[in-house]
Amino acid sequence: MSTGRFAPSPTGPLHLGNLRTALVAWLSARSTGGRFIVRMEDLDRVTSSRLHAAGQLADLAALGIDWDGEVVFQSERFPRYEAAIDRLTRAGLTYPCYCTRREIREAAAAPHGAEVPYPGTCRDLTERERRSRETDGRRPAVRLRSGGERVAFDDLVAGSITGTVDDVVLCRNDGVPAYNLAVIVDDAAQGIDLVVRGDDLATSTPRQIHLCRLLDLPVPSYAHVPLVVGPDGERLAKRHGAVTLADLAATGTAADTVRSWLATSLGLAQSGEAISAHDLIDRFSWDRLPRSQWVAQH
Ligand code: GLU
Repeated sequence: MSTGRFAPSPTGPLHLGNLRTALVAWLSARSTGGRFIVRMEDLDRVTSSRLHAAGQLADLAALGIDWDGEVVFQSERFPRYEAAIDRLTRAGLTYPCYCTRREIREAAAAPHGAEVPYPGTCRDLTERERRSRETDGRRPAVRLRSGGERVAFDDLVAGSITGTVDDVVLCRNDGVPAYNLAVIVDDAAQGIDLVVRGDDLATSTPRQIHLCRLLDLPVPSYAHVPLVVGPDGERLAKRHGAVTLADLAATGTAADTVRSWLATSLGLAQSGEAISAHDLIDRFSWDRLPRSQWVAQH
C-alpha cells in the first residue's frame, strides 16, 4: 500500500500536463489501496493564491480525483522548514550566500537566463568578508554545503538516474524556504512513500534524496512522468490554445472527455472510451504507461 500525493503550486490553472500527472499519481496510490493527499506548494506568496488553489482542487474533483484529509498549504508550515534548516546549520552543513542571480551567472560565464550550478563564490568566505557584505545591506540566502556527492536512484518510469548534488538554496534571501527543502520535509511529515511528478523535476531528485539522508528522513520511491508537449514539440503552455479544463469547457469539451483523453494517453482506455476515474484504478499499471512524451493535439 503506497501513500501518494499531488503537490501543485497554485500559481494558475492546471493544464493538461499537470492533470495527467495528477491522474497518474492518484491511480498509482489508489491502485495499491493506499492514501492520496493534495498539498499546495504556495511557498511564494507573491505568485500563489488561494483562488488558484480552489480552482485547481475543483479541476481535480471534476476529473474524479479525490484526496484524503485536509489539503495542506506550505505557507502555513514555515516553522517546520526553518527547524530543518537549523538542524543542517547546527551540523555545519550550510552557509550564507550573498550572491545575486546576476553574479552567479557571471561567475559561471553562463548565458542570460540559463540555470547554472552555483559556482561556490560564498562557500569559503571569511567572517570579515561576510560582515562586509552584511554592512553593504545584503541579506543572505542559505545554501547547503554539499560535497558534490553523486546520488543514484531507480525511477519507476525512467529507470536508473544519477545526478550530482550541488550547493542548493535551502532558504531564499527574502526568508522564504526553498522548494527542495520544503518538499522533502512535507513528504516525510505526511508519510508519502511514492512521489509521482513531471520529469522536469527528475534533475532535482538527487538533491532531495541527499537532503533526506542528511535529515534522517525516509527516501520515498519516485516516478517521473514524461511531460506533455504541444504539436510543436514544446512543453505544453497557454500559447498552445485550450489547455485547461476551463478553456476546454468553453470549446464544448467536458471534463469526462478530458479524462478519457488522459486515460487513452496513459494506455488505460481505448480512444473515445467513456470511463470513470474509479474504473481506471483497476487498469493502472506502471508497465502500461508510455515512456515517451504525450503530444496533446486537441
Ligand atoms: N510544486 C511543484 C510544481 O508544481 C511540484 C513539486 C513536486 O511534485 O515535487 O512544479
